[in-house]
Amino acid sequence: MNKKDILIIEDERAIVRILELEMTYEGYTFDSAYDGKEGLEKFHGSQYGLILLDLMLPEVSGMEVCRKIRKISMVPIIMLTARRDITDKVTGLDLGADDYITKPFEMEELLARIRAGLRHSQIRMTESKQLELSDLTINLLTREVLKQEDSIDLTKTEYDLLEYLMLNKGLVLTRDQIIEQVWGYDFQGDTNILDVYIRYLRSKIDYPYGSKLIQTIRGVGYTLRDQP
Ligand code: CA
Repeated sequence: MNKKDILIIEDERAIVRILELEMTYEGYTFDSAYDGKEGLEKFHGSQYGLILLDLMLPEVSGMEVCRKIRKISMVPIIMLTARRDITDKVTGLDLGADDYITKPFEMEELLARIRAGLRHSQIRMTESKQLELSDLTINLLTREVLKQEDSIDLTKTEYDLLEYLMLNKGLVLTRDQIIEQVWGYDFQGDTNILDVYIRYLRSKIDYPYGSKLIQTIRGVGYTLRDQP
């Protein structure tokens, strides 16, 4: 997945422009979104090291954006708030924002917080027990599976199969490899069971969303990837 340093979600174009200039100058890669809905779309489309999030946003509020991001990601979030929004700050921190900065802000202060946030982000990524591919996330500890923002219910075998594919995302796995890993070396049954379970998985994580993450490699096996 596309990786960038910062996602800016802010509807005041003048502020976005200043931030963009500054981020470019500092050598950060970034995207900008001008409302909450666009912000969430961008968030799901790429992987960011840090989110700069305005609270008062059209379409989807900053609070809601924060809540939705926190459900699936520990990415550092710095809220941009107006000085008067004291209760919003508290709510934002309660919802899992890491930091806030009041507008109008000193650029040096914001940059210092961004540097700190990105440092945390790197630590969290190494500690992270989550695997992500496009809009699919699995948690290796809790065995939770999220597609877009839906929690997906999988049976034990479905999960084991998906986890093995996720751990090897982008690689082509042979039918034998998958069966050995998921059903065990001593599996004696009909190997068509693999196709049956692939179909179950697709009906939960692909078909309902019009996506095609699980791909058949004819004559070989399967692979999990974002692109055809
Ligand atoms: Ca605003």
